[in-house]
Amino acid sequence: MVKLLYGNDVNEEIHNLLTYSRHKLYIYCPEMIIPENVREILLSKDVPGNDIRLLCSKDLDDDTDDFLSSATVSIVRSFPELSTCMYMNDDVAIMTDVPLVGLEGYHTGVMIYRKSEPLLYRSLMGEMGRIFHTATEIYEPELKGYCIACGREVIYNPGKPFCFECFKDLSIKYTDLREIVPENSFCHKCGKPAPVSFGRALCSDCYQVRTTNEDTEAKNTNEEMEQ
Ligand SMILES: [Zn+2]
Ligand SMILES: [Zn+2]
Repeated sequence: MVKLLYGNDVNEEIHNLLTYSRHKLYIYCPEMIIPENVREILLSKDVPGNDIRLLCSKDLDDDTDDFLSSATVSIVRSFPELSTCMYMNDDVAIMTDVPLVGLEGYHTGVMIYRKSEPLLYRSLMGEMGRIFHTATEIYEPELKGYCIACGREVIYNPGKPFCFECFKDLSIKYTDLREIVPENSFCHKCGKPAPVSFGRALCSDCYQVRTTNEDTEAKNTNEEMEQ
């Protein structure tokens, strides 16, 4: 289904799209001004495993800059040619001229439902992805992780869950890195002591959260590739 939005419906549906996003939330607005009620929503979605992308074309004002600089996972980029607003979550997409702060007067928008219009939805997602990939980085948070062998802080990457020193030591001892099972090991994600290994670097609690989120990510990646 494609729904045409008129007048106040535009603001209302944008707000719904933000509120009901699950793991994916793309906000593209030439001028990125984020009102207080939207900040609360963004903060609640800004958690590891979620894919949150914000794209603007104009410089951020100091206040928005401050707010976005402390994001945990949200990626903020700039694309000078952007001159319309686009919003997307896991289920719907909206194209309109109405930014996050809303606009006075009469405005329109087009809303696309993923379930009933998968081709349109994916096509728009493909285009939003293409623009985002060519855009200039403003904020690109790096997630914090822990070395599974010594517990030291490293960049989160389950495919390489060691600090440089431990990796050096262990790769001398083991020919196959998959065999590495550190004696006193730490979860790569939460840093708590836990029986983990190179093959499975997360404790059982973190592993469950990750699997749930990755199911969605894998599905999203497939869709982007289908384009
Ligand atoms: Zn280490
Ligand atoms: Zn953990």
